[in-house]
Amino acid sequence: MNRNTYYNNRPYGRSYHKKPEKPKVEIDFNDKDWKDKVKKPKADTRTKTSDVLNTKGCEFEGFNLSRPLLMGIFEKGFERPSPIQEAAIPCILMGKSILARAKNGTGKTGAFSIPCLHLVDPKKQHIQVLVLLPTRELALQTANVLKSLGKYLDLDDKIVTSTGGTDLKSDIIRLKRDVRIVVGTPGRLQDLAKKRDAHAQHAPLNIDNCNMIVLDEADKLLSTDFLPAVTALLEYTPKDRQLLLFSATFPSTIKSFKDQWLKECETINLMDELTLKGVSQYYAYVDESEKVHCLYALFRKLTINQCIIFCNSVNRVELLCTKVTRLGFPCYYIHGQMGQKHRNRVFHNFRQANSNCRTLICTDIFTRGIDIQNLNVVINFDFPRSANTYLHRIGRSGRFGHMGLAINFITNADRYNLCAIETHLNTEVAAIPKEIDASLY
Ligand code: ADP
Repeated sequence: MNRNTYYNNRPYGRSYHKKPEKPKVEIDFNDKDWKDKVKKPKADTRTKTSDVLNTKGCEFEGFNLSRPLLMGIFEKGFERPSPIQEAAIPCILMGKSILARAKNGTGKTGAFSIPCLHLVDPKKQHIQVLVLLPTRELALQTANVLKSLGKYLDLDDKIVTSTGGTDLKSDIIRLKRDVRIVVGTPGRLQDLAKKRDAHAQHAPLNIDNCNMIVLDEADKLLSTDFLPAVTALLEYTPKDRQLLLFSATFPSTIKSFKDQWLKECETINLMDELTLKGVSQYYAYVDESEKVHCLYALFRKLTINQCIIFCNSVNRVELLCTKVTRLGFPCYYIHGQMGQKHRNRVFHNFRQANSNCRTLICTDIFTRGIDIQNLNVVINFDFPRSANTYLHRIGRSGRFGHMGLAINFITNADRYNLCAIETHLNTEVAAIPKEIDASLY
């Protein structure tokens, strides 16, 4: 069977997310009962760990946010701030630059989106917030979080996403409108910031007065792949800009960037330990030739809501997808050599909670940031090479303090790497037991 038959050919737009609905009824935010009008999503009763519960007891209402913004926050189902939100939101509101480190899935996106939305001045008609991310999917996902949190701020059309792999001209047209927040990948944004034609006074992306710059997955953005574009963009922004860096991992090389760009900043580090409390980690010691068979056994045994399988190359992703589909398990695949439209369609379909295809095989383009709440199992079909990649990969499960499972296929050649990663992360990856208790994931 051709694996493409699993793709749903439903039409889709630029974003693979459902667009936040525009409020249909006018809400009177002066009404003292405004909170009763919030249409909260169904309460999530799953167990959560102290990674998100260990708070000081702050409330969103205590941050002095506007009522329309609070309404967006509560409608998204955020009841109380997570530890990183509690720590970062007040600092950002006070105008400080920050370098914030917190575990995967603990709410970093909300931690910068909420104060940025609050600080956008509706009277100023220029770009006020620039959010940089390392992948296109992550940019679209983040723009959507901003749009849903800011649903009542009338910013929907004023938040523009611009990433590589899409038509440059249409980005230029969209940036001509009244834009307040731009979310995108550094390469495309750099092109738009420097491109000037003979008649234009400004480049299509005018960030001369943009006072707030967010680098999410900051360590990736400061790697050699992205750093030149990131610094070029920073050069266009005002000297007194507020710079917000977020990630679960920061390498020591951040120091030189910090010395140059972040002379005065608040450091928030909520990572006294590195791995998520809710994610159980196991390894299966296998021969390369046994991996597919082992995967088949896992599919039959585990209760999988949704699952991501990581391979170390594009070829291996496609090959594995063919094999798994032949075994009777429908799956999608995604990698960086696919066209953007195709990538969007696959990801859009996969993230539907009721998708009839619950497995996604991918390369490391999906290692970071991707947030799929129902995803409870991550399988490293190929073991990653670095501890940071491992940490980000397994962080795709166990979102917002929930339980999750990470299973690693370890060949003879991976043994030393597994030990090194265990030591680096100060964690233990146990041998896979015959039965895995379903309450663990
Ligand atoms: P990170 O950026 O740290 O990896 P995300 O910002 O993607 O994490 O958040 C992970 C998940 O937690 C998302 O599905 C998000 O909607 C949810 N979430 C974030 N903050 C809260 C909150 N305060 N209350 C409930 N859920 C939240």
